[in-house]
Amino acid sequence: MAFNATAMPKLYDEMYPTTDLGSLSFLEQQWVHWYVMIGNPIIATGLMSFLLHEIVYFGRSIPWIIIDNMPYFRQWKLQPKKIPTAAEQWECTKTVLFSHFTIELPLIWLFHPTAEALGMSTYQVPFPSLKTMAPQVFLFFFFEDFFHFLAHQALHTGPLYKHIHKIHHKYSAPFGLAAEYAHPAEVFILGAGTILGPLIYCYFTANLHIVTVYLWIVLRLFQAVDAHSGYDFPWSLHNIVPFWSGAEHHDFHHMAFTNNFSTSFRWWDRIFGTDDKYREYRARVKAAKKAMKNASKEDVKKMEEDLMNQVEAEGIKAEAEAEARGMGAGKTVKVQ
Ligand SMILES: [Zn+2]
Ligand SMILES: [Zn+2]
Repeated sequence: MAFNATAMPKLYDEMYPTTDLGSLSFLEQQWVHWYVMIGNPIIATGLMSFLLHEIVYFGRSIPWIIIDNMPYFRQWKLQPKKIPTAAEQWECTKTVLFSHFTIELPLIWLFHPTAEALGMSTYQVPFPSLKTMAPQVFLFFFFEDFFHFLAHQALHTGPLYKHIHKIHHKYSAPFGLAAEYAHPAEVFILGAGTILGPLIYCYFTANLHIVTVYLWIVLRLFQAVDAHSGYDFPWSLHNIVPFWSGAEHHDFHHMAFTNNFSTSFRWWDRIFGTDDKYREYRARVKAAKKAMKNASKEDVKKMEEDLMNQVEAEGIKAEAEAEARGMGAGKTVKVQ
C-alpha cells in the first residue's frame, strides 16, 4: 500500500516536515502511513504494540499446536507421554487473553508517553540501521535474562509461589501457549524485565527507536513460546549455540519444579549452581543410555520414563514443601 501524503497533508506536514517519502524503505513508508492514519501517536503506538504482541504470541503458538497434533514429532518431545489436550490449550488461551485485555491493554497507553519522556524515537523515520539495533537488542536480552533469573527465584519462595507463580506451574509439561499462562501479578513482575531494559537504556543514552524495542519484543516472544514448546529438535538453537537455554532447559524447570530459573541463557544458572539437579539428571540419562547400548528401543524408553517420573515425583514433593514452609525451592529436592 503506497502512502498518499496528499490525502492527509496537514498531519503529515506537522509530523514529518522534512521527511522525503521517496527516500524511505517500504516498511518506513508504512510506519509513516500508520501514524498519520491514526492521527494520535499515543493511540497509534499503543494499538501497534498490543497488536504486535497478540499476532506474534498466538502466531508463534499455532505451529506448536499443529506439531502437538502430529505423532511424527513425538520422537523429539521432551516429555512424550504428556501431550496437551485441546481443552487444556483452550483453557490456557482464555486465561492468557484475559490477562492481555485486563492488564496489558489498560497499561499500554502509558507506553508512548513514557517512551517519549525518556527521549525514545517513536513515529520518526528513518529507522536505525541493523548495526545500531543488534547490540541494543543483545543488551536487552542480557538484562531481561538476569532480571528474570532473580525475580523467578523470588517467585519460588513461599507466599509469592503460593499466591502468584503456582499458576504458571500448572503444567509440568508445558506447551507453546503456556508461555504467558500466569497470574496477572506475574505478568506484571516478569514483564518488567522485558520493558525496563529498553527504558533504562533510553534514559541513559537517549538513543533508541521504538522499532528496536519491537524487534526485541518479537524475539523475546519467540524465545518464551519456544522455551515452553516441549520439543527439543536436533536443529533447536541450543544445539547450535550451547549457552542458549531453549525448551530443553526450561522444560526441566516445569517437570522438576527446580533449577533453570533464567530465560534466554544458561550462564547464570551454571555460575550460581541452580542447574545442578538438571545436569545430574541429563548425566544419568546419558550414562543409562550408554549402559543400555544393546537394549531394545522400548527398554531405553522405559528407562527414560522411569527417570522422568522420579524427577517429577521429587518436584511434586518440593513444590508442597515450598508452599508449606515458605522456603525457597530447589534446596529440598533430591534426585538420587
Ligand atoms: Zn518457576
Ligand atoms: Zn515457564
